Amino acid sequence: MTLGPLPETDLTRHRRLREQGSLDRADLEAILDAGFVCHLGVVVDGRPLVVPTVYGRDERQLYVHGSVASRSLAGGIPVCVTVTHIDGLVLARSVFEHGVNYRSAMIHGEARKVTDPEEKLEGLRLLTEHAAPGQWSYARQPSRKELAATTLLALSLEEASVKIRTGAPDDGDGPDAELGLWAGTLPLTSAWGAPEPDPALPSEILIPGHIARREGTRHG
Ligand SMILES: Cc1cc2nc3c(=O)[nH]c(=O)nc-3n(C[C@H](O)[C@H](O)[C@H](O)COP(=O)(O)OP(=O)(O)OC[C@H]3O[C@@H](n4cnc5c(N)ncnc54)[C@H](O)[C@@H]3O)c2cc1C
Repeated sequence: MTLGPLPETDLTRHRRLREQGSLDRADLEAILDAGFVCHLGVVVDGRPLVVPTVYGRDERQLYVHGSVASRSLAGGIPVCVTVTHIDGLVLARSVFEHGVNYRSAMIHGEARKVTDPEEKLEGLRLLTEHAAPGQWSYARQPSRKELAATTLLALSLEEASVKIRTGAPDDGDGPDAELGLWAGTLPLTSAWGAPEPDPALPSEILIPGHIARREGTRHG
């Protein structure tokens, strides 16, 4: 069963800059699919910890993984995950109106530690394929020992919010427009570069197609 529109709950309801919010789940999915690094926010020993980490997803859940020793991956505690893409700087006439064009998502919930071996393997596959499509079947699969050393958390995508800012500065029709200053946006894009073979690689091993194909494609 697919999830419906993004819910407006006490946690997800935008209070400021509400016009930048979207309840369209397709916007959430597009933001998640455009990136592969999130920030996992969790309270550990009474202090907030915000950990950058890679993720994968299916229609209903986001997966993050790490070492079994990781304190941020305890599971069963409230977490807040964000994913952010920067599309440019918004350079206004006044410093106050400066801003950023962006797409961002925030997911609230209680992360669940995945213990079922089949789900764990599938979650790790989704995570690997999300960052590097084609690598799961190309690279060696995790051993039993490696799996045991890895924690996988699943977080429902149910309670999530999206915020998107696009376009020009907001002071084009205000008194500051008379100042005669340049204003506009400075777009920012990021793209994959040329693959750089490991110096330890024998020269007869060629770059696989699924890696070579990404050169020059956009990220974010
Ligand atoms: C790259 C970037 C730079 C930013 N710079 C600034 C800045 O300098 N100053 C500033 O005031 N704001 C900035 N923002 C916007 C900022 O993220 C918040 O949306 C805004 O500050 C409102 O915060 P709040 O605590 O009042 O949120 P509230 O409106 O109280 O948040 C309520 C709920 O709305 C949702 N929500 C809030 N913000 C976001 C978001 N960004 N993405 C998805 N869901 C969200 C969450 O579910 C949250 O729990 C920036 C955003 C991005 C992505």
